[in-house]
Amino acid sequence: MKKSIVIIGGGITGLSAAYRLSKLKAQGGAEIDITVVEKSGFLGGTIHTEYTNGFVIEGGPDCFFAEKPYAGMLVKELGISDRLIGTNNKNQGTYVLWHKKLHKLPEGVVLMIPTKFTPFATSSLFSFSGKLRMGMELFVPKRTDGVDESLAEFTLRRLGREALDRIAEPLVAGVHAGDPDTMSVRSSFPRFVDMEQKYGSLIRGMLNARRVMQQRTPAGTRSMFMTTKAGLKDLIDTLRQQSSGVNFKTGVGAQSIQRISTGRDESYTVTLSNSEQLQADGIILAVPAYVSAGLVSSMGKDLPDLLLSIPYVSTATVSLAYKKDAFGHVLKGFGFVVPRKENRHIMAATWSSSKFSYRSPDDSVLLRFFVGGAANQDMVFKSDDEIAGLVRAELKDIMGVTAEPLFVRIYRWDRAMPQYTIGHGPRVKTIEQLTAGLGNIQLCGSAYHGIGISDCVNSGNTAAQSVLKGLFD
Ligand SMILES: Cc1cc2nc3c(=O)[nH]c(=O)nc-3n(C[C@H](O)[C@H](O)[C@H](O)COP(=O)(O)OP(=O)(O)OC[C@H]3O[C@@H](n4cnc5c(N)ncnc54)[C@H](O)[C@@H]3O)c2cc1C
Repeated sequence: MKKSIVIIGGGITGLSAAYRLSKLKAQGGAEIDITVVEKSGFLGGTIHTEYTNGFVIEGGPDCFFAEKPYAGMLVKELGISDRLIGTNNKNQGTYVLWHKKLHKLPEGVVLMIPTKFTPFATSSLFSFSGKLRMGMELFVPKRTDGVDESLAEFTLRRLGREALDRIAEPLVAGVHAGDPDTMSVRSSFPRFVDMEQKYGSLIRGMLNARRVMQQRTPAGTRSMFMTTKAGLKDLIDTLRQQSSGVNFKTGVGAQSIQRISTGRDESYTVTLSNSEQLQADGIILAVPAYVSAGLVSSMGKDLPDLLLSIPYVSTATVSLAYKKDAFGHVLKGFGFVVPRKENRHIMAATWSSSKFSYRSPDDSVLLRFFVGGAANQDMVFKSDDEIAGLVRAELKDIMGVTAEPLFVRIYRWDRAMPQYTIGHGPRVKTIEQLTAGLGNIQLCGSAYHGIGISDCVNSGNTAAQSVLKGLFD
């Protein structure tokens, strides 16, 4: 008998799941209807690229991290590897605002871990004692009690106060727009914990990772960050085009799920916001955890409560375009991050047209600022004029830019960044145990095992395989 799978949420996770199912269905010759239900009018979720007068503006993410393989593997499978680009190595460099001045993050600092002696020793970002303390990391004994530390505790213990205030908080916690005092290092950055356990030191672990990377990738072609010439929307559009046989319903949200058990057979009714009802033998929930909580609320209380306990924060991106000759700054670098102690509205800035090619016409530049996050959520909900005014005032202070922008684009991301707080790992384990009790429903997406695009692709793939197995087991 023909089976049907409903995927709720058309972000990168839901689309990866749909694509994977369409491939597995074609390979296995199974008769399955696959439907993606997406509440907004477009696919991609937080991935949103706008094209204006020769500018490529990323409203949400602007790249994926090459270190995790899943997004790169997907790009290859889709046959669009020739459209991939890395960062512009000639502009390499990130700055940190400290005591009102931009200091270059020393070359060789990866995330928060120094791996090259000379640039680190001569850096103006850290004091002499701060550098000494970071170097002592090599001799700090590893923690063996398995406690789920916060990112702040972990960084203080291994690298000291300056590493926490000047890089871990703005750069590392910034990936989640999060608060290092509450973030679980084990869930948010498991790699750090693994390095400590395996090598007894982050510096030793990172040096080893660099060696492996250097052996694998020829010099000059290395980039930690990847995207496509046309921006990340290219990935979304290609995924849709190549998900053959998938039925996409956009502009309509899922409102509830009812479980129907008749003897051994189990199925679900998904009710949509337009009152339509879809029958499903398997369901993939690729929506934020708090949306999944509402959708499964008819099936018990513990699971929704746990899903709701995963906190989210809101952020916004503010893109500003300028004529190059009026701009007055060379933009040699990828941008800067702003520690909380600087008391600014801007959390981070990407010099988009320096970081990647194909982002602006030759005579123009494009910059993008992040505001909001755990420490400054109200900022996201100010008016466009207010946000643009505050960002431009700080741009003047920090970089001396007074020129009039050609245009401003603001994208708000309301409760889009899940926070992996202390206890996240066990919480997710219980969530998955409880979900297994609901039959053929799979949870996936940024809320659980990694927030990056590559993690989301992996989580969509895994959900697709599991739900398919659930249909035929
Ligand atoms: C501003 C910003 C910058 C980022 N930068 C990067 C970066 O540079 N690199 C990186 O790797 N990661 C980055 N991330 C993280 C990454 O973009 C996300 O974790 C990832 O895109 C999440 O994908 P998702 O499909 O799980 O969720 P989402 O993209 O949130 O998609 C969920 C979808 O579900 C839909 N939905 C919600 N409710 C319903 C409903 N009831 N019925 C149907 N549909 C519903 C939503 O409309 C949405 O389209 C960034 C995130 C943000 C917000």
